[in-house]
Amino acid sequence: MPDKEKSATTASVTVDEFISENGYYGDYGGSFIPEILVPAFEEIKAHFEAIRYDEDFWQQYRALLTNYSGRPTPLTYADRLTEHYGRAHIYIKREDLNHTGAHKLNNALGQAMLAKKMGKTRIIAETGAGQHGVATATAAAKLGLSATIYMGREDMERQYANVFWMKRLGAEVIAVDYGSQTLKDAINETLRDWVSSFETTHYVLGTASGAHPFPAMVAFFQSVIGIEAKDQILRAAGRLPSHVYACVGGGSNALGIFQAFYPHDDVKLIGVEAGGKGKESGQHAARIAYGEGTLGVAQGYKTLFLQNKDGQMNDTYSLAAGLDYVGVSPILADLSKRGRVQFSAATDDEVINALQTVMQTEGLIPALESTHAFAGAFRDIVHSSKSDIFIINMSGRGDKDIFNIAEGLQDEEWKAFIHRKSNQFSRQA
Ligand SMILES: *Cc1c(COP(=O)(O)O)cnc(C)c1O
Repeated sequence: MPDKEKSATTASVTVDEFISENGYYGDYGGSFIPEILVPAFEEIKAHFEAIRYDEDFWQQYRALLTNYSGRPTPLTYADRLTEHYGRAHIYIKREDLNHTGAHKLNNALGQAMLAKKMGKTRIIAETGAGQHGVATATAAAKLGLSATIYMGREDMERQYANVFWMKRLGAEVIAVDYGSQTLKDAINETLRDWVSSFETTHYVLGTASGAHPFPAMVAFFQSVIGIEAKDQILRAAGRLPSHVYACVGGGSNALGIFQAFYPHDDVKLIGVEAGGKGKESGQHAARIAYGEGTLGVAQGYKTLFLQNKDGQMNDTYSLAAGLDYVGVSPILADLSKRGRVQFSAATDDEVINALQTVMQTEGLIPALESTHAFAGAFRDIVHSSKSDIFIINMSGRGDKDIFNIAEGLQDEEWKAFIHRKSNQFSRQA
């Protein structure tokens, strides 16, 4: 299978550009872990090193993605959206069509396969909005591993539908009741579990952050997005894109698509962060675009965090739960510093507007996270020309966001429906 061999090589080469000996990317990255976890990280590093160049592993991984998850996902030419703006041609990479509705399963399946290779029988994960928890629970069910997911109590309240699915998929969901009861507390609790369980258990980290080698490993498993997209745009348009847009929470979908285009200096790579209620409001998660992230060490790695002068993490905010994160991938922090990836931020209002445009011109419902990439692209497109090609990574589908979207659109009929449902439940109870 010459095609698959080429993919394996491409993946390794592009990821190699991102890996340094000690896991640093310029000033960012590294590994700040408790002594007791050193053997666990050594084991992962050794196995990751081996699979990166293992054609068999890559082919088994690709086969699972193809036959189970539905890859390759299409690259859709957005003809009506292109016509709407009358400038650059717009193509959309359809990660929404991946099983479980987003790119997250690429990583969860890859790491679950790695866990089995390491002889582990159990996987654990942190989750904020619950999407990574659902992907991990799914991978565990499919590969016959047991799974425990840690989630802040507050996040469980906000994203109960995902809790429901994780449990139904057979995972144990443990509520984290201390601190702010959100993602950062869930990360601490997952590490605490791992300290006493690593002999049987692998920690499936959900994004391209954390201690080395997690950023590189998650970027590696997501590289399939860009490998496909590059091949698809060359076949569809006969040339490379001028711009590639992706939203940035931790950075995994962005690195996933950017990697393949990274060696081509003419291709502009743009990461779009959560501008929330705007820079002045303080309610956002734009670590790089708003220039407010400062160097710090937390959660096992060094990167730009939204923190105060004493190193206390700020409360971040986004309408899109998956972008609501204080840190950012060290790989992206470095690419930004070196000017290879540009950053912008889209506010909630811009996102709601962009969402309506995409729904009504293309019949697509992007996740609120992904809609940030669209909003960033729409802001730039007025300065583009007809000879430009934009690829927008649609990291996930938005039907999961129906509660937030209906609220954002202030849809009165939906509100009335929720009231009726709730009354119906209370009558039954
Ligand atoms: C989790 C999530 C994100 C943000 O995570 P990254 O690691 O930055 O990709 C973006 N889009 C969707 C649909 C998600 O579920």
